[in-house]
Amino acid sequence: MTRFPNERITGTETLGLAMTSEDNPFADLDSWRELGVHWHAYMTTRPRGKSPQPGQGVGDRDKRLAQTPLAVLRSPREVEQWIDKQTREYVEPVEVRAGSEWVRVGDEADLAHLRRANYRIACRGDSIYTDIYSSSTHHDLYVESVTDDQCTNTACKNV
Ligand SMILES: [Zn+2]
Repeated sequence: MTRFPNERITGTETLGLAMTSEDNPFADLDSWRELGVHWHAYMTTRPRGKSPQPGQGVGDRDKRLAQTPLAVLRSPREVEQWIDKQTREYVEPVEVRAGSEWVRVGDEADLAHLRRANYRIACRGDSIYTDIYSSSTHHDLYVESVTDDQCTNTACKNV
């Protein structure tokens, strides 16, 4: 399951046109450049069914940003590719019940859908929190959008 914690209303929605970036794939593509963000990527692992360790949950962005990231991502394409790589490493394709239907999770069609969705979210300059379930483990991926002012990672400054 993918959660998008920083989903925000697009400019066209505030005008009452009810048009989102989902309707128009070219909307907001350069917002990340205007915002001047890059991303710090983190992953934690826990036994399936267990809660995150203290300090490693959804609400612990500040604690994460104080740590050295697993990867620094410089573009929406890099964000999409990093999440896809981690997902392919750990996902176990399964069928899950969604309402009255069974849907495949983790197959090529699902992964392609996730790549497109993650790319669009990153283009808006947002963070992406997602997770990968397998039979015994639960991986939490946190790709934090940061401005240069928010970034305290010395490795970022040397690029
Ligand atoms: Zn940084």
